[in-house]
Amino acid sequence: MEAPVRKGYITFFTGAGVSAESGIPTFRGSGGLWRKYNPVDLATPEAFRRNPTLVWEFYDERRQNIAKAEPNKAHLLIAEAERTFPLVSLITQNVDGLHQRAGSKNIIELHGNIWKVRCVSCGKEEMNYEAPLKEIPPRCDDCGGLLRPGVVWFGEALPYDALQNAYEIAKRSKVFIVVGTSCQVFPAAELPFVAKEKGAKIIEINPEETPVTEIADISIRKKATEGMEEVFYYLKNV
Ligand code: NAD
Ligand code: ZN
Repeated sequence: MEAPVRKGYITFFTGAGVSAESGIPTFRGSGGLWRKYNPVDLATPEAFRRNPTLVWEFYDERRQNIAKAEPNKAHLLIAEAERTFPLVSLITQNVDGLHQRAGSKNIIELHGNIWKVRCVSCGKEEMNYEAPLKEIPPRCDDCGGLLRPGVVWFGEALPYDALQNAYEIAKRSKVFIVVGTSCQVFPAAELPFVAKEKGAKIIEINPEETPVTEIADISIRKKATEGMEEVFYYLKNV
């Protein structure tokens, strides 16, 4: 077997499933958030224009839940991989910031961060870790405008630089490890296919089948924590 670790880039690509064992609900799976809520009412620019209080109540609840959660073994092993092997990147669709808390440094966030807020009037962006928020909807200190969550909503473009970087990293990856994503939200879901086309070995960790399963060289049908232990062992021993 070729030795990817010594030859080139290792990329982790994560979705909500990596945080599931930290007690943060995924979107689509059983118990997923969109089973309980209608995304059109909560995670679109129109919803925010219509009812910013309702949207913020939803995000405030998620922020409180995330604040109480701890990074799990999968987050920790991904962070350890960055310290152990050269040329490790992490591309995440998650907005919870648990990868940062686990110690990962080299992170591309494709869908923003739930702890970031942005003023819809003056554009000022900052981190805000208040949970619960003192005021709903929160307002900008500078101009009094409405603040919105710094996440990418349905119908919005992904941050340009983050997406370009993600494509570049996918293209030069030797091993591309997909952890806990249903791979249904484009353009992020395209990344494993881009990596595969350029010759990367694809490893998938997911208890369920996804569109990536078909192109995966190694498919680990387990939860993220258990699956990451196997992957870590594999990376150390190839
Ligand atoms: P998704 O809900 O569509 O899919 C979750 C995937 O994780 C499923 O394929 C499921 O089988 C798998 N899964 C469930 N439990 C798992 C576990 N213990 N270990 C490994 N895999 C497990 O989520 P997605 O693919 O990330 O969808 C993308 C969207 O979800 C993004 O827009 C992202 O911003 C958003 N999201 C983020 C969070 C978060 O930050 N934690 C939470 C919910 C949704
Ligand atoms: Zn402002």
